[in-house]
Amino acid sequence: MTTKTNTTTAEQHDSMFDAVLARLDVAAKIYGLSDDVANILRNPQKQVKVSLPIMMDNGKVEVFEGFRTVHSTVLGPSKGGIRYAMDVNDDEVKALSAWMTFKCAVANLPYGGAKGGIKCDPRKMSVGELERLTKAYTTAMADVFGPSRDIPAPDMGTSGREMAWLVDAYNKVHRGNFPGVTTGKPVGMGGSLGRDAATGRGVMVSTLAALKKMNLDPKTVTCAVQGFGNVGSHAARLLNEQGMVICAIGDHTTTLWNEKGIDIQAALRYVKENGNVLKGFTGGVEIKPHELLTAKVDVLVPAALQNVITGEIALDIKAKLIVEGANGPTTPEADAILQEKGIVVVPDILANGGGVTVSYFEWVQNNYGYYWSEEEVNAKHDACMSNAFEHVWNNGKQYKTTMRIGAYITALMKVEFGIKAKGIY
Ligand code: NAD
Repeated sequence: MTTKTNTTTAEQHDSMFDAVLARLDVAAKIYGLSDDVANILRNPQKQVKVSLPIMMDNGKVEVFEGFRTVHSTVLGPSKGGIRYAMDVNDDEVKALSAWMTFKCAVANLPYGGAKGGIKCDPRKMSVGELERLTKAYTTAMADVFGPSRDIPAPDMGTSGREMAWLVDAYNKVHRGNFPGVTTGKPVGMGGSLGRDAATGRGVMVSTLAALKKMNLDPKTVTCAVQGFGNVGSHAARLLNEQGMVICAIGDHTTTLWNEKGIDIQAALRYVKENGNVLKGFTGGVEIKPHELLTAKVDVLVPAALQNVITGEIALDIKAKLIVEGANGPTTPEADAILQEKGIVVVPDILANGGGVTVSYFEWVQNNYGYYWSEEEVNAKHDACMSNAFEHVWNNGKQYKTTMRIGAYITALMKVEFGIKAKGIY
């Protein structure tokens, strides 16, 4: 899908939210979205910022900033992860919340979009400090969150552990048992089997679907994966299990290349035993981080950070297919270049939708109080992701545009329907 009919803007976007709006504007124009609906979507429904004084282990009080933005509840309760990182800010949370609206709509889930975060460095905090921070944040957001209002999940820097703390704090404020207030909980306290690997699994399903459209056999395909956390490690493992040779992997500590293929099982064992980092793993030669993105491979999976595929990097990319495991890894400037070069990009709001899809299954199971087997979860997940891929691919073709704009159009159709059906007063 490489027509040049609808290139995205070539302006610079310092703001992540502006980058979302740039894509929204392009999709809205191609699809013919009404200005009224476009205006609604350009403005998040609710933005909350809190300050969280925490007693640190050394007896000193530190004050942290916490954020939650609800972008839309048109299609259902808002859904979106909570990120712990030093660069969390209003703009980023706003952008990620809008992406969640579009992602949930693309995946055909009865959810709106939200995102939250705390500006902190979780790697430098003790378990006790993180628990107090998570519970203080939840207490401050107790009227924002709710199983039928706004449902968080893990994101960068958070995991099932934080979600269990969140449920505990929420239950204490609201005096009840509300497992459906968040997803991504540990299995055994309301978590779903299959959730941990779900985002990586969705990347795998999207990659296989794209390769099929491109007439490429996964068993003859090479791949580079940036990020070896939740998304990247599961994506690398699952793609490898499908026969793909993973030639490059990397995290914030090291980036490795092996032409013959990195032993992903050995890398997984290594990170498990070495504080979740690749540093010191000897399964490949060390390369510079940007060399992973421009490596001579067929498929590139950015699964770490946003804005890593810049215009400059895009000019040098050799992969035929990019599958966005991370949120927002490609800048709008790079989009235009990739389109020009005929590189197929499976966009974030489709490719990493596997996580929120199984989050939805977790919430359904919590509401039922009845739990499914992992096989059942995976089968339902794969069917959802395959359907979403087909819709996006077909809309891209129909509107003679990229898969990214095709994904936005897929989402806009559903959100527009919801806004019009409910009415505006
Ligand atoms: P994570 O914290 O589990 O892992 C992040 C990984 O990125 C780690 O391996 C880390 O070392 C690496 N990283 C950090 N800085 C880096 C750098 N400068 N260069 C290379 N690697 C770097 O986070 P995650 O949950 O895997 O999320 C990764 C991305 O996927 C984020 O954009 C997130 O928003 C997105 N995402 C996550 C989920 C989910 O279910 N976890 C769902 C959808 C989207």
